[in-house]
Amino acid sequence: MSKKITVIPGDGIGPDIIQSALQILDKAGCEFDYEMVDAGLTALEKTGELLPAATLDAIARNGVTLKGPLTTPVGEGFTSINVSLRKQFGLYANVRPVTSFKGTKARYEDIDIITVRENTEGMYSGLGQITADDGSYAEAKSRITRAGAERIVRFAYELAKREGRKKVTAVHKANILKSTSGLFLTVAREVAKEYPEIESAEMIVDAACMRLVMNPEDFDVIVTTNLFGDILSDLCAGLVGGLGMAPGANIGQDCSIFEAVHGSAPDIAGKNLANPSSVILASIQMLEYLEMPEQAARIRSALADVIASGDRTTRDLGGSHGTTDFTQAVLDRL
Ligand code: NAD
Repeated sequence: MSKKITVIPGDGIGPDIIQSALQILDKAGCEFDYEMVDAGLTALEKTGELLPAATLDAIARNGVTLKGPLTTPVGEGFTSINVSLRKQFGLYANVRPVTSFKGTKARYEDIDIITVRENTEGMYSGLGQITADDGSYAEAKSRITRAGAERIVRFAYELAKREGRKKVTAVHKANILKSTSGLFLTVAREVAKEYPEIESAEMIVDAACMRLVMNPEDFDVIVTTNLFGDILSDLCAGLVGGLGMAPGANIGQDCSIFEAVHGSAPDIAGKNLANPSSVILASIQMLEYLEMPEQAARIRSALADVIASGDRTTRDLGGSHGTTDFTQAVLDRL
């Protein structure tokens, strides 16, 4: 029986780029069975809910989800759908790889960095949120647990081991945030000792930002807390030409959700202008997770060839073609 995958087309450009990814997965011979469900604005309009129960059931039942970007409506009462999904399914690891592709407008040529971001704790834990009635102050708590830190750091080293990577850099701010970032660093040092074959480094977050811009070749796998990981992974995306080339996986014990890092791009929705590369790269991440390395490599090489040759590329990549032409160019190489 073929593997069932939950697919959330999403909002804005989501349905178009997801369609592109599914065509490419099919042509590469992946033989998945797709269960299509709604979330975000599309679901709100149909069912009155941003995350309908049927969608949550499908995510839990099938284990693996490919997701288009979702629009979180602006206004009181709407919490971020992505944050809700991470919490509900315990998606503790956010894995964001960036790789240079020849033909993109980027400052560097040989970037290959994976940011492993803790996805559920730290400044994003939503704890102790207070805003004074008169608006004079606001506060929120950051919580790091030993178990959470251990789990994410071990995840990063295991990933490094599996992928034959040489170095893991723990990024922190333990000199100032002595309790929270201090605990993360203590745990990172302890876990590092279990992996003597992998080089371990540690760096304060501000220094890491400068080093990433000046000497990105010094980095291989980065492991860090939630807020730092959110920021650093966008910085890394900038090194390879922007969010159009950045995928992300949210991994938990039983479930995982693969997605593009960018949003629903309402300004170009429905215009056949979106570059589907991020979501194609997210599906490559999904194939690697499902231990289908051959199909993953075939799609990566077809995508790389389209971008390098400039054959039917989208506007953001310097071309003049639409999503469907770009997709066809990738399909023609599979
Ligand atoms: P965005 O990432 O959607 O767009 C930023 C800019 O990048 C826009 O000019 C857009 O046209 C361009 N862009 C984005 N993806 C592109 C692509 N594939 N090809 C070509 N150009 C592309 O960010 P935004 O406008 O700040 O957010 C729009 C909505 O998306 C918001 O509702 C936000 O909450 C949501 N969002 C969702 C996710 C997610 O679901 N993972 C992530 C970020 C933002």
